[in-house]
Amino acid sequence: MFDFIMTDEQRKLRDEAREFSRWVPKEMILDMDAEKIQFPHEYLREAGRRNLLGIRIAAQYGGRGLGWVDDAIVAEEIGVASYSLACLWGVGADIVCEAITLFGSEELRQAVVVPLLKGDVYAAEGLTEPRGGSDFFGATTTARKDGSDWIINGQKRFIVGAEGADWFLVYAVTDPSAPPHRRMTAFMVPRSAGVESKYIYGLMGVRGGGAGRVIFNDVRVPERYALNGINGGFEVFVRMMIPERLGTAAMTIGSVRPALEIATRYTTRRKAFGQPVMNFQAVGFKVADSALLLDAARSMVYSTCLAIDSGKVHPGRARRMVSQSKKFVTETAWEIANNCMQAMGGIGYTNVFPLERIVRDIRLSMIWVGTNEIMQFIIQNEWYKEYDKVLSKEKVRDVEDDAVSAREPDEKVYE
Ligand SMILES: Cc1cc2nc3c(=O)[nH]c(=O)nc-3n(C[C@H](O)[C@H](O)[C@H](O)COP(=O)(O)OP(=O)(O)OC[C@H]3O[C@@H](n4cnc5c(N)ncnc54)[C@H](O)[C@@H]3O)c2cc1C
Repeated sequence: MFDFIMTDEQRKLRDEAREFSRWVPKEMILDMDAEKIQFPHEYLREAGRRNLLGIRIAAQYGGRGLGWVDDAIVAEEIGVASYSLACLWGVGADIVCEAITLFGSEELRQAVVVPLLKGDVYAAEGLTEPRGGSDFFGATTTARKDGSDWIINGQKRFIVGAEGADWFLVYAVTDPSAPPHRRMTAFMVPRSAGVESKYIYGLMGVRGGGAGRVIFNDVRVPERYALNGINGGFEVFVRMMIPERLGTAAMTIGSVRPALEIATRYTTRRKAFGQPVMNFQAVGFKVADSALLLDAARSMVYSTCLAIDSGKVHPGRARRMVSQSKKFVTETAWEIANNCMQAMGGIGYTNVFPLERIVRDIRLSMIWVGTNEIMQFIIQNEWYKEYDKVLSKEKVRDVEDDAVSAREPDEKVYE
């Protein structure tokens, strides 16, 4: 985040998060990447101990009760140590805890949010299924009523933290005959009889964060574990788009930042043809472009955080801004990481520097929490709606008329 716009409290918070990132043992990062660690309990316990989980969650449940700007400031620093750790940090404390505090009962807040923010338990989020993730309404996991309970059957895949999770936020079809947006329920499912997780993916990056398949075989959950009531899952899903996507954008900035710092240092020291390689514009411009892109990405995250915190933007506009941030930041981060690798030549491609891990890790950012194609789809949808309903009605100069032949009706043919 930009320190010139931070308050003293935000700078202090940033420094706390930085100190935590410095605490992360190197062995933890390397062992996760080598999958010797499959779920870093120790990291979450330490984050809880430092009160760095649940930045936006109310203090009465153990969070900090702050806003999106503060969350993004912390997320950026969290992302620096490792993308895999940042994914875990965000899913449990930022996404699932928000879903429970907004849509769940006091019983669930006490059972899940309070211990999760202390780092004692973990909760994963399960939307994606083997038959498809982008198509939320195409989910085939079902829940059928049995007395005052619901019986869940189905599978979710690629679930971050599945291996260590004590609870799962699971979307299941509860009324197949209803229209899509009234068909699903979001249940909080404890790890109990019939729940099985499998750590089976040979991931390109973000390793060691417990990403796995979760199977629900006649799993019994009480109706009171439904968030937003039975058939109210769509509202939970829509609301969770904000922490999923804005959180991803913020932490991705942090994870790619070290690539720029490493490449900057390297290109000032490394010599070719008798001079530092930064003097060759082909190299120095790559680093310069990366600095420009990183600041542009950060600006976008920051303005989106301000927009959400203000509570003044229409939900459609908020959805567009969040989707834009996710798409722009993650594609920008990918470009930065590749620029930096290129600027370092062969050594950037080896494990002498962590650049190759950064490249492998942040590639996920364009895929998860909704692919960037889905972001584009949302942006398109919301932009046309906003233009039609709001922007086209604003009293601004109509520049379309400022053309020599603007009043040639025979030329303005649309069909
Ligand atoms: C490491 C990892 C961690 C993950 N963590 C989680 C997690 O914790 N919880 C969770 O629920 N999920 C998680 N996911 C799943 C991730 O969110 C999905 O993989 C993603 O949403 C895409 O779904 P899919 O893989 O089924 O691809 P598909 O939906 O099959 O899409 C395939 C391709 O088609 C494109 N496409 C699909 N529909 C459209 C459309 N309408 N318009 C344009 N293009 C379209 C997609 O963009 C993509 O390019 C994770 C995935 C990975 C790899």
